[in-house]
Amino acid sequence: MNIAIIAAAGAGTRMASDRPKQFLLLAGTPVIIHTLKVFEQCESINEVIVVLPAAESAGFLSLAGKHGLRKVARVIPGGVTRAESVKRGLLAIRAATAEIVAVHDGVRPFVTVDEIDATVAAAHADGAAILVAPVTDTIKRIDDGRVVQTLDRGGLRRALTPQCFRYELLRQAYQAADVTDPAATDESVLVEQLGHPISVIDGSARNIKITTVEDLAIAEAMLTADDTDRNRD
Ligand code: C5P
Repeated sequence: MNIAIIAAAGAGTRMASDRPKQFLLLAGTPVIIHTLKVFEQCESINEVIVVLPAAESAGFLSLAGKHGLRKVARVIPGGVTRAESVKRGLLAIRAATAEIVAVHDGVRPFVTVDEIDATVAAAHADGAAILVAPVTDTIKRIDDGRVVQTLDRGGLRRALTPQCFRYELLRQAYQAADVTDPAATDESVLVEQLGHPISVIDGSARNIKITTVEDLAIAEAMLTADDTDRNRD
């Protein structure tokens, strides 16, 4: 059985809103529901664990039910850091039946079914696989207010989610991890520290992380454009 852990326990402090960003409305529906609907359609995912702020956990299962999200099996209160939230999700998994775990940011609603299925399949084959996108800006290393290095962007990729792993490998990575370390910004880095190779799957730049008010406006514009395209077909 393959399980998705949806990390959605952030407080959304960069959004300047009194609601965490994963609960803000996108075309009238909470961002987190958009995200969960994509996982609902994935053949490669059997069960979904949602990690939420403790105050939002109660009642979420019934909201999920209202939106027809039958794969949402558990709702877990999150931790102080993203890594702590994911670890709590991981601890809720029944080890006996778990094969692949797909970790995804709740605020990335534009991931596609094909991207999830391809990343899960690569993790089945290789043990660990993440979705990535090219870097289109030139990236500089800065020290003390000055540029000290220009990186070759041809060799760089942005790490997106989902990030998928064999259950045992991810459990081992989290057992060894310091979840309070601010450098633990994704799962891949923890598995890299074990020395395990990570495969990459090319994903779309549309898979944005809704972090700021500007991102929410971009997300609305993307949905409107998608609707226009659909009506034209
Ligand atoms: O903070 P960041 O932008 O890396 O958050 C990525 C995802 O991790 C978001 O979906 C957010 O809700 C989640 N998160 C979490 N628990 C935290 C902090 C962030 O589940 N303590």
